[in-house]
Amino acid sequence: MSEELREKLFDKKENGWKTVNNEEMQNILDFSKGYMNFLNQAKTEREFIKKAKELADQNGYRDIMEFETLKPGDKIYFINRNKSMYLAVIGTESIEKGLHIIGSHVDSPRLDLKPNPLYEDTEMAYFNTHYYGGIKKYQWTTIPLSLHGTIVKTNGEKIDICIGEDENDPIFTITDLLPHLAQEQMEKKLKNGIDGEDLNLLIGSIPYGEKGKEQVKLNILNILNEKYGITEADLKSSEIEVVPAFKARSLGFDESMVAAYGQDDKVCAYTSLAAMMELGEVKNTAICILSDKEEIGSIGNTGMESHMFDFFISEILNKLGINKPNLLDKVFCFSKMLSSDVDAGFDPIYASVSDKTNAGFLGKGISLNKYTGARGKSGASDANAEYVAWVRNILEKNDIHYQIAELGKVDIGGGGTIAYIIANKGADVIDCGVPVLSMHAPYEVTSKFDVYSAYRTYKAFWNA
Ligand code: MN
Ligand code: MN
Repeated sequence: MSEELREKLFDKKENGWKTVNNEEMQNILDFSKGYMNFLNQAKTEREFIKKAKELADQNGYRDIMEFETLKPGDKIYFINRNKSMYLAVIGTESIEKGLHIIGSHVDSPRLDLKPNPLYEDTEMAYFNTHYYGGIKKYQWTTIPLSLHGTIVKTNGEKIDICIGEDENDPIFTITDLLPHLAQEQMEKKLKNGIDGEDLNLLIGSIPYGEKGKEQVKLNILNILNEKYGITEADLKSSEIEVVPAFKARSLGFDESMVAAYGQDDKVCAYTSLAAMMELGEVKNTAICILSDKEEIGSIGNTGMESHMFDFFISEILNKLGINKPNLLDKVFCFSKMLSSDVDAGFDPIYASVSDKTNAGFLGKGISLNKYTGARGKSGASDANAEYVAWVRNILEKNDIHYQIAELGKVDIGGGGTIAYIIANKGADVIDCGVPVLSMHAPYEVTSKFDVYSAYRTYKAFWNA
C-alpha cells in the first residue's frame, strides 16, 4: 500500500543511468564523443564561434546581412566581432507571438596576456598575465598551458595562434615553490597562496648572441618574428589567452563522465548549437545565443548587456517587413527563454556547502535553477511559477530527466548568468543547464547523461 502511494506521490529524482536502454546508451556515448571533439578545437570564445560558423554554414544557415527579406523557414546568423553569435530559424507563427530563445556563453575563466606581456628576469623569459573570471589561482600553477589568440597588425593583418595543443608543440607553465622552501607560503590563506601578479608564464631560457641586454627576451622575439612576422609592439594589439593544454577525456572506469577545460559554459553552448543544427520547421522563431564576457559581467559590445542582440532581432523584424514602433518590446514581452548555463553539481566531498534536497546531482539530468542570486535572492531573476510549469510540461512530455536546484546553501552560494538581462526585456526566463564538478577549475567534470539530457531539452524547447 505505502509503496504504491510513494510511487504516486513522491518526486522520484532518479539516477538517469538506471533508465537508459542499450540504444540510448549508444546515443549518449556517441553524442559525448562529438562534444569532446568539439571542445578540443574550441577552447576560446573566438575558436568556438569559428567552429560554430563552420557548422552553421554546413547546415544551411547564412549571414543575415546577405538577406534582403526573410520568410518562415529561413536559417540565419549574425557574428559579433568574432566572439559572440546569434542564430535563428524563422518560425511559421507570427513573430509577434514571441521568440523561443536559448542563451549560453562561450567565454571561460582563463589567463589573458597583459598588453605588455614579455619580460626577462635572471635569463628566463616570461609572459605577464591578468586572470579573466573567477579562478582559484593556485589551480593554474604547475599544469601544462597552451596559448590561443589573435594578433592584429596596424595594417589590419590578423595572425591566429594556437601553441601547445598538438603533441609536437611545446607547452608553457607557471611555476610554484617547492615544499622545502614554502613554509611561509603554506601559512597563507588559500586565496592568497598565489598572488595574481605572480601568474607569470615561463616561455624560454636560451639567450640570443654573445652579449647585450635581455638576450633571452631577444631570442623569444626572434622566434616570434620568424614564425609570425611580428615585433614586440604588435603584442599591444593582440588578444592571447592562456588555457590548460589538457584534452577533453572520458572520466571513470565506466567512462560515464567528461573531464575537460571550459565546460562552463561550452557544454550548454555546444548542446544548444547541436540541437539548433537539427531543427526543421519551427512554430515560434527559434533563437540561439552564444554570448561572450559572461564570466566578467556580460559587459562590453560582445557581452549580453550590449544592444547587439536587440539589433539582431530588429534586423529580423525589418527584413520580415513588419517592423513598427515598439514591436521589439512586444516581441520580447511574449518571448520565452532557457538561460542555458551550468549549475554547481553536488560534490559529496564538499557536501557542507549544499542543501542536499535542493542541489543538482550528476547523472540526474538537466538542472533548472528557478532563481540564482545570493543573500535573500538578491540580484536574482526569479522564474514565474506559470513559466516553470510550462517548461516542466515540455520536459515531462518528452520523458527528459530533470531536477530543480539552488546554487549552494542559503547565504553561501550565489552566482549570475545572462538570465536577468533577457528577463529585464520582458521575456520569461529560467536557468537551465548541466551540473558541473570543479566549476571554473582548469579541468571540470560533467556527466555524459546530463550532457545528452541538455541536448534533448534544448531540442524539445524549440520544437514546442
Ligand atoms: Mn557559466
Ligand atoms: Mn562561470
